[in-house]
Amino acid sequence: MTLTVLMNAGPWLSVPPPGYGGIENVVATLVPELRRLGVRVVLASVESSTLPVDEKIAVFPDGQFSALQRPYNQVCGVSQAHLAGVVRALHRRDDIDLVHDHVEAVGLATMAAMGPDAPPALHTLHWDLAKHPELYGTLDGGDRVRVNGVSASQLARAPRALREHSVGHVHLSTPLAVDADRRPTTPKGDHLVILGRINPGKGQDLGARLAHEVGFPLVLAGPVGPYHRPEDLAAAGDEARQNPDVRFFHEHVAPYVDGDRVRWVGTVAGRERDDLVASARASLFPLRWEEPGGTAVVESLSLGTPVVATARGCLPELIEHGRTGLLTADERELGDLVLAAGLLEPDECRREAATRFTPARMAERYVELYDRVRHGATVPLQPV
Ligand code: UDP
Repeated sequence: MTLTVLMNAGPWLSVPPPGYGGIENVVATLVPELRRLGVRVVLASVESSTLPVDEKIAVFPDGQFSALQRPYNQVCGVSQAHLAGVVRALHRRDDIDLVHDHVEAVGLATMAAMGPDAPPALHTLHWDLAKHPELYGTLDGGDRVRVNGVSASQLARAPRALREHSVGHVHLSTPLAVDADRRPTTPKGDHLVILGRINPGKGQDLGARLAHEVGFPLVLAGPVGPYHRPEDLAAAGDEARQNPDVRFFHEHVAPYVDGDRVRWVGTVAGRERDDLVASARASLFPLRWEEPGGTAVVESLSLGTPVVATARGCLPELIEHGRTGLLTADERELGDLVLAAGLLEPDECRREAATRFTPARMAERYVELYDRVRHGATVPLQPV
């Protein structure tokens, strides 16, 4: 019998996303593989989504991301309106075997609040689980609603009520991992790269300081708040500093950005992004937070670039110290690790990615979890 899954990607961006869009990218990567495995997918997203699916549900014509700049009381209706559309569809039809939900907080709350006649639901937790303590601390989805994380370390730190609903974790994947071990190698340059949103948790200030102290060229790629290009941030003026990431950049990162030793190139995409990472000596993740999933980490391995990082969050699960990267619990050792990174073998990284981080592998794992959710599998609590 064909399994029909309602995949709820939310109202914020179309799928695949036009640019930056973590969750929408995961959905765009997962759905084709699920369909290859014979799963029927009904996508709840916005009308402009172009991902091939079996059926589409939409409340909004286009992604509502820009509304997120508005104050909470003017934006909170967006995701609720989307969820109301999903609930209406679930009431109207009886062919949905399972809802796979990705909508932060309100998706989980809505699925849990639906009555026993609603289909079982799996809600993927893509983010830092210290958020939403009011919801995560009191969640009651019975046997019908389950959650999964994107790493074991993320779930291990989750509130107990959330862990009690967990069916495990699925590591993130990337299309770049497909045949990563068979692609021709990219010649290595001298630079290191930090790819990601510029903010205190990602630690670009620490990386930039190290570049000057240790003496290596560093490229910072990623947006600062809503600004994707240096010229847009420069044109934004002082008002932009109300955004905490903009303030962080100006106060703690920009003093090191000299256009030579340290460069900020804004958001890079597509071929440019892949070339920048593939030609880097190593990717640097000087994390100050518990990275929940680490898409940029698995992308780096796929592109044959070892990872140098603080051993936080999911990093020890994704990286094998001494083989695919170098990790330290002490950020003062990062400089020495950068110097040693040249000894690591790019081909080991690509082999690892091709084995562990392909979309097909992720889809197989989700099909297993769908099965566990549908059959009410109970699992032991993740260790704290
Ligand atoms: N990214 C990108 N261009 C940039 C910076 C980041 O395409 O200039 C992408 C990166 O390749 C990855 C995602 O943004 O796919 C970041 O995901 P990750 O899980 O590493 O971090 P998050 O921002 O979700 O915390």
